[in-house]
Amino acid sequence: MARILITSALPYINGVKHLGNLAGSMLPADVFARFKRAEGHEVLYVCATDEHGTPAELAAAAAGQDVLTYCEEQHRIQHDIGRAFGLSWDWFGRSSSPQNHELTQHLANVLEDNGLIEERVDHMVYSVDDRRFLPDRYVEGTCPHCGFRPARGDQCDNCGRLLDPTDLIEPYSTVSGSTNIEVRETRHLYLLQTKLEEKLRKWLESKTEFPSLAKAIANKHLDEGLIDRGITRDLAWGIPVTRNGLPRPGFEDKVFYVWFDAPIEYIAATREWAEAQPGRDWESWWRTDKGANDVRYVQVMGKDNVAFHTVSFPATILGSAEPWKLVDVLKAFNWLNWYGGKFSTSGRRGVFMDAALELLPPDPWRWYLTANAPEGSDTAFTWEQFQSAVNRDLADVFGNFVNRILKFTESKFEGHVPEGGEAGELEARLYQSVSEKLAALTANLETLEMRKAAQELRGLWVLGNEYLQEAAPWTAIKTDPDRAAVIVRTALNMVALFARVSAPFIPFTAEKVAEGVGEAYPGSWPSTDAKAELSKLEPGRAVHAPEVLIKKIEDDQLAEWTARFGGAEG
Ligand SMILES: [Zn+2]
Repeated sequence: MARILITSALPYINGVKHLGNLAGSMLPADVFARFKRAEGHEVLYVCATDEHGTPAELAAAAAGQDVLTYCEEQHRIQHDIGRAFGLSWDWFGRSSSPQNHELTQHLANVLEDNGLIEERVDHMVYSVDDRRFLPDRYVEGTCPHCGFRPARGDQCDNCGRLLDPTDLIEPYSTVSGSTNIEVRETRHLYLLQTKLEEKLRKWLESKTEFPSLAKAIANKHLDEGLIDRGITRDLAWGIPVTRNGLPRPGFEDKVFYVWFDAPIEYIAATREWAEAQPGRDWESWWRTDKGANDVRYVQVMGKDNVAFHTVSFPATILGSAEPWKLVDVLKAFNWLNWYGGKFSTSGRRGVFMDAALELLPPDPWRWYLTANAPEGSDTAFTWEQFQSAVNRDLADVFGNFVNRILKFTESKFEGHVPEGGEAGELEARLYQSVSEKLAALTANLETLEMRKAAQELRGLWVLGNEYLQEAAPWTAIKTDPDRAAVIVRTALNMVALFARVSAPFIPFTAEKVAEGVGEAYPGSWPSTDAKAELSKLEPGRAVHAPEVLIKKIEDDQLAEWTARFGGAEG
């Protein structure tokens, strides 16, 4: 048994996430966590809301709330929706927690002790009317590169370039709209990443298990050359800047930059988890001097987050020279797009997690988003593909097999696993095919190849249908009851096996299926010995067909949803 730590990128606090966010971080992490638990490993899957930074302050202001209340409310909403989707976090924390305050301040202190932090004088945009500095999104103006207006202080939404607020042409305050703006001097802390370049490169070279997308992005950032990074901001909401446990003189109105404290929350969230219940220990997951050397740490995230996890966060950890656990496998995803364009939180373009659950239960979404995970390249959501994945894969292939054999058992064997007969040549061939598919499914889950894993799982469901079709128990029962008993028993064992291997992908449906054949849920992950796995159900056990497992998506539903959420023209 191994100990496996899993984190998915922290969803930002400003509102419910869209399906692209789910598909590229939280959902694959959940599938992997469920798979590893079924294998019998000790798994800790932590996530949290990322609560600091200017977007949180601005969203709170727009909602007419103070930022604390806003974050509390939004955290609860995101937590509840994630749970409704079946995300099996062991803990869903908050980057604004006291634990993260303490750990962030601690790491900054250690980095400074190690000569890796220095104070520098910056020139920042200051609003005279608002009597405050305007970091990041507090200032907008015209993009100096493409002329787009309004470009935000940290990035231009049109050309995508990262900006510094002082770059903007004709800037104005988003607090008051005032154009009475000047550039003033202010002091900030800088993390001297340039001093850590060699260490980072060596560490990254040792990460042979990183899938190619993560490695390529990481190397690109290193090759472009590291820069020393400002890790404080002129803001009120965030983690106060301290030195040796006391407020840092001159930094009373500043906080740590959100991108400095957010990844530290992975560790702090684990501490939140531990402190929520006696007997839990967080250090054995994170401190290599306290047991974390045995931990396998897997991170899952969208490609935009890779640089922060392969350069910035490791710079913090390596720079501390403390024995913290670093990531072993970093799985990155491309974008899930909405038709030709992007999902947009601000433009409410595409389907968001809350709206998705108003339309359908979580499993159809989970299946589609895993089977079409944006792994090799960006992928576009379309309603037509979604309908096809649900109707063909889930309803026609999986649901149909389960219902058909269970209904047949109810009508011909009084709802009991039949006894009698011996497995024959057809079963021997089935065992062979199932063994191969199980091995491939397991191998792909192991390397977090979600698309391929879903493909292998679907292949298993197909084997079930093919077996039934070829064995034809409805014919055998008329002439050879023992033969019919073997077929039905084998097929019922397939149903039980499907419940176990489908559980990471479609947990709610798998639970109903397991219940139908009298199996515990969630079951353990099967070996590749298909003969043994398909001979488990004892004759005489009561089984029953579940209520409708998967409802098909009708064409008129599709038309209605396309009109409501946009589609090809959207
Ligand atoms: Zn631009």
